[in-house]
Amino acid sequence: MITDAPVLRLSNVDRHYGQGETQLRILDKADFELHAGEMVALVAPSGTGKSTLLHVAGLLEHPDSGEVYVNGVACGHLGDDRRTAIRRNEIGFVYQFHHLLPEFTALENIMMPQLIAGLGGKDAEARAAMLLDYLRIGHRATHRPAELSGGEQQRVAIARAVANAPLVLLADEPTGNLDPQTAHYVFDALEALVRQSGLAALIATHNLDLAARMDRRVTIAEGKIVPF
Ligand code: ADP
Ligand code: MG
Repeated sequence: MITDAPVLRLSNVDRHYGQGETQLRILDKADFELHAGEMVALVAPSGTGKSTLLHVAGLLEHPDSGEVYVNGVACGHLGDDRRTAIRRNEIGFVYQFHHLLPEFTALENIMMPQLIAGLGGKDAEARAAMLLDYLRIGHRATHRPAELSGGEQQRVAIARAVANAPLVLLADEPTGNLDPQTAHYVFDALEALVRQSGLAALIATHNLDLAARMDRRVTIAEGKIVPF
């Protein structure tokens, strides 16, 4: 269900690197809205600012000016603790590389953010197991990342990203390291999870087939976020 109030909103956001004549205006008075239940593809050439946009949207970087609203809360002037709490509870991240903790099992990797958020071990384990089953890798629960295929690693990373039932999923080329068939398989799992949970997702991808399956597509042009 797509509701009126955006769960993520960027308003008049600037993000610049460098100074003077060498300044890169990556985001330049950029506006963007993402609603619950919506899957949006971010399609733009390398170096355009996709990762920058996701980092700003995910409160990992501050914009130089403008505001980022998560579920209606203006996050710019919040202290680091508040921002971290919002990031932890409301935002899930998936990267191109899985970034799973190598010494922990798939199950433990998915439990970790829940334990950090204060959930008890039993509940965290039950939810982690449920997510693994949902992503059809329940039989890999006790395997460490090195014992998993690339597609399985990414599915664990997706499960970890949604473990705390965030409002927003931000994914930075989540299938970029996978062969086309595995990419589709992993995207199927991601899509099913997003559709089932009513999560809002912004997913950077170079894969136009996958982009075509999302609700809409945006790109970055002259620092603005515009329809692709
Ligand atoms: P994309 O993810 O689309 O490939 P990025 O957001 O990573 O693009 O980068 C956008 C541009 O900003 C690139 O030209 C990159 O070199 C530059 N850039 C990214 N991060 C920094 C930084 N910390 N300092 C200076 N320039 C940066
Ligand atoms: Mg990038």
